[in-house]
Amino acid sequence: MTTTRFAPSPTGYLHIGNLRTALFNYLIARKGQGSFILRIDDTDAERSKPEYEEAIKEDLNWLGLHWDRLERQSTRLDRYEAAADQLRAAGRLYECFETPTELDLKRKKQLNMGRPPVYDRSALALSDAERDRLRAERGPGHWRFKLDQERIEWDDGILGPLSIDAASVSDPVLIRGDGQFLYTLASVCDDIDHGISDVVRGSDHVTNTATQIQIIRALGGKVPRFAHHSLLTGPQGEALSKRLGTLSLRDLRARGVEPMALLSLMARLGSSDPVELRRSMEELVEGFDISRFGAAPTRFDEQDLFPLTARYLQSLPLSSVADRVRALGVPDDLAEHFWNVVRDNITTLNDMDEWWALFRDGAQALVDEEDRDFVEQAFALLPDPPYDETTWASWTAAVKEKTGRKGRGLFMPLRKAVTGRERGPEMADVMPLLQKKPTL
Ligand code: GLU
Repeated sequence: MTTTRFAPSPTGYLHIGNLRTALFNYLIARKGQGSFILRIDDTDAERSKPEYEEAIKEDLNWLGLHWDRLERQSTRLDRYEAAADQLRAAGRLYECFETPTELDLKRKKQLNMGRPPVYDRSALALSDAERDRLRAERGPGHWRFKLDQERIEWDDGILGPLSIDAASVSDPVLIRGDGQFLYTLASVCDDIDHGISDVVRGSDHVTNTATQIQIIRALGGKVPRFAHHSLLTGPQGEALSKRLGTLSLRDLRARGVEPMALLSLMARLGSSDPVELRRSMEELVEGFDISRFGAAPTRFDEQDLFPLTARYLQSLPLSSVADRVRALGVPDDLAEHFWNVVRDNITTLNDMDEWWALFRDGAQALVDEEDRDFVEQAFALLPDPPYDETTWASWTAAVKEKTGRKGRGLFMPLRKAVTGRERGPEMADVMPLLQKKPTL
């Protein structure tokens, strides 16, 4: 049974990096006909905000990444407490009293001596009396998991066989002095209880995975399959971290990026398969294979989203965009024709606004000085709307007869005068959409 989860902390908006994690987990669940859990990692009560949780759900729904089940860590504190007791009873959880400054000093000393800055476990040597004294002086301590100092190995779904020496890693803190359970423990309890079969997350979690494998085993759970995807960089290989704010999913949505364009790109970027525009979630699931992804950093260029969006829109029937077209104020009897005309001339649906404004109000005519008289004569030959699909032919025939112009010299100045642009849809198709007679 395949079960995956996407586990964001509700401390901000989802960005393109989070999407990769969400999408991979979603596709694995669908491919295995299993279930996909949205898990809200909200053990940090101070930083977690309900409005971010709402935003996360809204973004996932917009993309069509629907979850089968919702879990929230803040409702499971009893379970984490029980797991902590189990680890204490097994001698795997110990209380420490160092302040952040003391820990920092220790790390600096180790680094100065050329040693890795691994916690020295001095708290393990404390006697009961010393612990009582420290607790009285400093308040309750924080709790660390005592790693077995062995090599931790797993076969990573993307990175291949991995092995990490536990002796090179500090015993992870699982509970803070104020009693807050940390993600490392909470996540392990959830993964065990929810029967998670596959965990896909960013490669910044590799060390976490090593320690979590030991914690899972200490709690008697089954270790899931792990896969760590590479970091996303900008088009030049530069770090994206500072720009992620402007690469939030809601931002891309507002800029008109279509979900299928975004999903098609992200389901392939960084893999050895080419990016192909997919038109449905089924197609995406079909073509997804996590083993095709590599460890190298993945270059992401947001500009790639726009041609994919344009191509996606070109194939859509009016029914898929009818609400947006109606909201623009396009009369129902013109909607079909309007959409057929503009869909090949837009990059995003947002571009429709401009086209409709042009058809409704008329364009700022683009007229070269030497064409001014000609255009004036031509406009005098054009009746008032409504126009139909024959208007362009009959009008230009009349203009040709009157002025003697023909070919490009006839058509181009009229196109520019009517639409204010040098390029666009067929003029025969444009005329029936015009709500006002064009003027200079
Ligand atoms: N809340 C964690 C994060 O956002 C989840 C990591 C995981 O997938 O285990 O990094």
